[in-house]
Amino acid sequence: MHLRSRQARKQGSTRILIADDDALTRRLLEKTLEQAGYEVVVVENGRKALESLSSTDGPRLALLDWLMPGRNGVEVCREIRRRSEHPYIYIILLTAKTSKVDVVTGLEAGADDYITKPCDAEELKARLRCGERILKLEDKLTYDALHDPLTQLPNRSFFLERLMLCVSWGMLHPDYKFAVLSVDMDRFKVVNDSLGISAGDWLLVQIAERLLGSIRRDDAILRTAEVGGMAGRSEEVGILARVGGDKFTILLDNIQNASEGIRVAERIQQAIQVPFDIDGQAVFITASVGIAFSGTGYSAAEDMLGDANTAMARAKTLGKARYEMCDPSMHAAASGRFRLETDLRRATERQEFRVQYQAIVSLLDSHITGFEALVRWQRPDYGLVMPGGFITAAEETGMILWIGNWILQEACRQLRAWNLQFRGAPPFTMAVNISAKQFAQADLVSQISDVLRETGLAPENLRLELTESVTMRDEERTTRILRELRKLDVRLCIDDFGTGYSSLSYLRRFALDILKIDRSFVSDMLINSESMEIVKTILSLASNLGMQVIAEGVETAEQASQLRSLGCEFAQGYFFSRPLDSAAVASTLLACERDSYTLPRKPVWQLTAPVR
Ligand code: C2E
Ligand code: MG
Ligand code: MG
Repeated sequence: MHLRSRQARKQGSTRILIADDDALTRRLLEKTLEQAGYEVVVVENGRKALESLSSTDGPRLALLDWLMPGRNGVEVCREIRRRSEHPYIYIILLTAKTSKVDVVTGLEAGADDYITKPCDAEELKARLRCGERILKLEDKLTYDALHDPLTQLPNRSFFLERLMLCVSWGMLHPDYKFAVLSVDMDRFKVVNDSLGISAGDWLLVQIAERLLGSIRRDDAILRTAEVGGMAGRSEEVGILARVGGDKFTILLDNIQNASEGIRVAERIQQAIQVPFDIDGQAVFITASVGIAFSGTGYSAAEDMLGDANTAMARAKTLGKARYEMCDPSMHAAASGRFRLETDLRRATERQEFRVQYQAIVSLLDSHITGFEALVRWQRPDYGLVMPGGFITAAEETGMILWIGNWILQEACRQLRAWNLQFRGAPPFTMAVNISAKQFAQADLVSQISDVLRETGLAPENLRLELTESVTMRDEERTTRILRELRKLDVRLCIDDFGTGYSSLSYLRRFALDILKIDRSFVSDMLINSESMEIVKTILSLASNLGMQVIAEGVETAEQASQLRSLGCEFAQGYFFSRPLDSAAVASTLLACERDSYTLPRKPVWQLTAPVR
């Protein structure tokens, strides 16, 4: 709302609307005003005038002809004044009527001024200048009403207004998340008391600068730039306001989860910790921060701000220079999550990721036909972490892009080495999981072809595993990407089939090569007739479409033989082998090399614990 006035202030020439049904008058006025340096918008009736004045960046000076067909100038005037939420529009009525009664009618309708036709150019320009002065004053009043005079930051009213927008938006869109941080300096009174008010004021401006720096976009919060969000496409991820003496509030807009609030809180504390230099004297202060997260489900902006303040007060009671979340149970979860994200980021530098490979076997003869690469994280103090413990966080922070590409390279390089060392006939294949974020990358296809070229792996031996949710997002794009991938000659595989939308038309549309029946059906099928039916249906569906099928999660001999008798050709599961590191795979391949890579009947791998 008020943004409009700020935008107008930034623009060089003033925009003005001319509404007149007489073409000659319009042309004359347009020419005069353009020569005077205005940016002119011309319309020929009242309806269009209203439209133009109602748009968010519409003109704020208007010359309205009193007599127009349809809505006349006076009516437009009344309508504009009725909509009080708009920034002020200065209206001059153009009229041939000069009787006192008429003038009063026009002014009562909300016109600021009137000018009689035919109008004198100099008089018109003088009256417009008067209008501009008033608009400037109005802008200044609006600005002052919404900003803190010392730091020029938004004030409490501005903040609450924006927060209210977020809260209303959040009530309609449950996926939209935001957070409020209440930031209070811990020892500010000491500064004011010992160094004086003006030093205190100077310090507040410096603090505001550092706080602004703390909410600048970094890699982790890039996503806000993609989606825009309520804060727009500015450099900051939110709004910083000064709401009182040494008290600031931050609105973090369009975030993924509460841990982003913690990230900003940590950054604030680090930024404030650096001593301030006041006349050669180092001044140390700290900040206490309270965080309220929209996930709690707010319906009023004041409640959310109140909760952030309460959390900030708790942070002070608990020893200052720290942050607290309004909901203590959320605090534990969010700070755990924050630590996870921080450690994940470090893991990429410290090379803590590992790949394990799980064999995929033929159900007909137990030959190993290939492998699926599965990521693991050797997290210090935690041991080997399975993907369930970090993939979601890696997705949300975008780190999956790095991890995914690393796994792809590692798996392709490894398979190429195995295929040179062990002459399986046909060569072994390697399946690599592709996440939603990876799939959404514009250069996915070239990344994959680069890896194939660098590692020298034959493309037909690489299988990309996609889930339905990954591919269903944008059908047109998916079709195009899958076509390009097929051109590379890699194989496409639908993972966890049966758990998503699983429609027949879906499989047809995307023409995939391989289908993996989700583990849940396999583990259930001998005890639940419905699961058995689903397995049968999937098998006949795949056979009609000429797709290969791999059953996932086969854990018992019974499941394996049942699947074989139903015509399922391939399987993967603990019954055959757990995922293993590359050394364990190599020694097993070596052991069964002479037997055409047939797994021993009594599976030795099954007994091997995952190697750390
Ligand atoms: P997925 O692609 O469906 O992989 C199969 C999962 O089932 C693996 O779990 C595997 O260890 C497990 N599994 C295999 N056989 C059996 C069995 O007989 N019984 C049981 N209970 N489980 C079995 P894991 O390694 O924990 O991976 C879980 C999921 O994480 C994967 O499901 C995949 O969606 C994802 N993931 C793993 N590695 C990557 C990766 O490199 N990139 C991406 N984007 N996602 C990955
Ligand atoms: Mg998979
Ligand atoms: Mg799967």
